[in-house]
Amino acid sequence: MDGLANSCQSRVPLQSDGEDVRLPYGITEDDRLAHVTEVASGLACGCRCPGCGERLVARRGANKVHHFAHHVHRACAGAWETTLHRLAKEAVLEAREILLPKAVAKVGDLSADVAAATMFIYEASEAEVDLGDLRPDAVITGRGRQLLLEFHVSHPCGSEKIARLRTRNLATVEIDLPRVPRLLPRGEHVEQILRTAPRHWLHNAKVAAEEDRLRLIAERMTELEQRRRNRLYGRIADEVAAAWREPTRRGHRGWLTRAADAGFGEFTGVPMPGDRCFAFDAATWQAAFVFYAVVAAAGHTFTAENALSYLQRQGMLKEPFKLRRNWEPELEAHLRERVGGFRSPIEVIADYATWLAERGVVERTQTGWRADHERGWEAKARIDVAEAARKRETDLRAKVIFLLKVAQLPTRLAEPWMDRVLPGFGESPRALAQAGSDCFENVLRRLRELERMAWAGGAPVSGDLLGLPLEELRRTRQAEANARQETQRRIREDFQAQTRERRRKESSDFVDALLAEAALFMGEVDGLAWVEHAVRGGGGTTFDEGRLGLDRVMQERIKGALDDERRRIELIRHVETSRHGEEAAMTVETLRCRQELETRALRHFSGNADKSRLWLRTTQPALGRSPWTHAVDERRRDECLRLLDAALPKGKRR
Ligand SMILES: [Zn+2]
Repeated sequence: MDGLANSCQSRVPLQSDGEDVRLPYGITEDDRLAHVTEVASGLACGCRCPGCGERLVARRGANKVHHFAHHVHRACAGAWETTLHRLAKEAVLEAREILLPKAVAKVGDLSADVAAATMFIYEASEAEVDLGDLRPDAVITGRGRQLLLEFHVSHPCGSEKIARLRTRNLATVEIDLPRVPRLLPRGEHVEQILRTAPRHWLHNAKVAAEEDRLRLIAERMTELEQRRRNRLYGRIADEVAAAWREPTRRGHRGWLTRAADAGFGEFTGVPMPGDRCFAFDAATWQAAFVFYAVVAAAGHTFTAENALSYLQRQGMLKEPFKLRRNWEPELEAHLRERVGGFRSPIEVIADYATWLAERGVVERTQTGWRADHERGWEAKARIDVAEAARKRETDLRAKVIFLLKVAQLPTRLAEPWMDRVLPGFGESPRALAQAGSDCFENVLRRLRELERMAWAGGAPVSGDLLGLPLEELRRTRQAEANARQETQRRIREDFQAQTRERRRKESSDFVDALLAEAALFMGEVDGLAWVEHAVRGGGGTTFDEGRLGLDRVMQERIKGALDDERRRIELIRHVETSRHGEEAAMTVETLRCRQELETRALRHFSGNADKSRLWLRTTQPALGRSPWTHAVDERRRDECLRLLDAALPKGKRR
């Protein structure tokens, strides 16, 4: 590298290695623009710099892109631009066709294509033509049309010049060359100038006409838009004006309470001019604002817009003011005319925030306002404590009122009770609720117990009534409870008496039936004697006493005994009435055998008379007949007994 030429400055750093101004063209001794490839190497090229006129050396080594460099190192600015400008003029003068750009009319957002890009063929061309107040780089003429060309190398055409072109209606194209690469062969440079470099119309009569048309359309559209907006603003203004006149209401008391709890009550309720955009009175919207500024946004900068959206979410704004966050200047102007004293919510909020800043509640920051974080935290804590205390008080009052209602006492007693010192607690219920100690929990627990007593049918409680007028209620509940106990005792006694009476009746009925049955086969007198004996024998009492006091077991036993007696009497009678002695003896033997068999069978089947009878009367295959028929003498009776022993006493095992 040649150290002598390496600090020459270039305005176009493209393709520069930073140490040298590398030029593709030099001026020959006969004042031609020569490409480095067209001359001899080194100083022998005989070329001078197109910018400064100093001698150049042609560098045509094997390893680099060929170029010229200054022979003597010097600051040379603008050599390439001068070269390119001259090259462009030469190229246009030598050529006979050039690419014209697409023609597009553009007004604001509207645009229309007027003509496509096209090759312009020309017969005549001239450089640096003097047109009075204009001196275009080149003028070309083809098919009777004259076209001006401007080559933009470092500075594009200025607006003043463009205005002159328009006034004189001279069709002009500007070709933008700053991005043309420097070290290219001459042919490619020419191609860039004539075709490929970007180009555009500075003035084109058709485009101008189309733009006039578009401008008219745009104006019409703007006018329509303006009219539409005016109508809209008119409507909004009507609504706003109506809302402006609406009276403000008192807001929810919670806001005021909260501001007071937080310790900012004195900063609310300040008259702020133009605050009729708010649905609620100054005290309410300002309480909401202070809560937002000091608690919700504590430690953060907020803008009037931030505060406004908070207030809007809390329903603080009248309906028409909710619609827009930003008030367009035209709309505002419109409103100021229509509505006396109108101010946008943002302005009012900003005024109030400034007022608060003057009193140190918030501080002014670059973009808005901010409340100290610590201060917000303390305010929040104060609110929480106060709200918890208030909730306890409300709960307590609700409980007492409920209790009074249930006890059918006037609920107005609740409020004085809240303030009376509770015996045993040393404080009024309200004070206890405010403090929220264990004592308060005890009061609540006691109230719940008293509540249980309040309901009709509830259980009376003993002890402390918390100073509530529930003595009479307790007496009533106690009397009710006593009455309930008494009733239950009476019912129980009645039931016992009835049971006793029923048993006596059963016993007496049994004895009557027994007498009737006994009288049937013993006769009245013997029957009565037998029954009297049996009944008295049971309890060792008199007949009249025993007659009413026989229990079930006793009755069964007596009934069994009577059956045995009847069978005995029947047997005797049978024997007595038998005409033939032998027959009678046999019959007696038969009867006795059968009776014995019957007794055994009954025992065998554990006293189940039905089973016993069934076995006796059913034909047994081993006997060929029923045991009853078979057992006419002792031998046959024993056969039957053996059979009986073998028979399974069914049912007993179950
Ligand atoms: Zn130079």
